[in-house]
Amino acid sequence: MAISQVDAATHVDPAANLAAVSARLRGALAEADRPADATRIVAVSKKHDLDRIMPVIDAGCRSFGENRVQEAKAKWPSIKERYTDLRLHLVGPLQSNKAADAVALFDVIETIDREKIARVVGEEMQRQGRSPTCLVQVNTGEEPQKAGVAPSVADEFIRRCRDEHGLRVDGVMCIPPIDEPPAPHFALLAKIAERNRLSIVSMGMSADFEIAAQLGATHVRIGSEIFGPRPE
Ligand SMILES: *Cc1c(COP(=O)(O)O)cnc(C)c1O
Repeated sequence: MAISQVDAATHVDPAANLAAVSARLRGALAEADRPADATRIVAVSKKHDLDRIMPVIDAGCRSFGENRVQEAKAKWPSIKERYTDLRLHLVGPLQSNKAADAVALFDVIETIDREKIARVVGEEMQRQGRSPTCLVQVNTGEEPQKAGVAPSVADEFIRRCRDEHGLRVDGVMCIPPIDEPPAPHFALLAKIAERNRLSIVSMGMSADFEIAAQLGATHVRIGSEIFGPRPE
């Protein structure tokens, strides 16, 4: 067990925070009669630098999330060379002109959200001979400003991603509306995963990860509860 490192300027102790989040997650899973290892923590390190990230790696976390391809490219390649079991997740929207970099760097692309990106990612996978795990983002709240496919077309979109674009779709992710109770959205996403026989359900963030874990999340994406407030 690594000694925790308190950031001198901000008093944030990411390793201690990770331990606290892990304990809360175990508690939530036990309450729901789910196995202690049913849900994995993806530490979302966007906007944080390596001083904040390394203690979390030292504490044993091996799954990290970033929301911007360019930022991830600047931070992660050398760390991934040292820690070959590390899994990097893209949790932010993907533009087609960044697809090549995303396929090269990420192990999991959580945000396949439209036909064009599915096609371009599929072509890049062919070209590079790499096959990151893909998740389809579902806009469970059907919010016009939010990325993701509508729940009613999710099954058909998942099928096309696989059959027409050659993606290895293993799961789904969602970001519920900020002003609604998240539980119905989590339940809906879990149902979509189940009927499509998908093994990965990515849902729940700092504010609601315990509920998500109880409703079937296999991955929760935790930023601020681990790393503290994000710098602007
Ligand atoms: C930033 C982000 C998170 C983490 O958010 P916190 O509330 O800080 O835990 C999770 N998922 C996505 C898609 C994000 O962009």
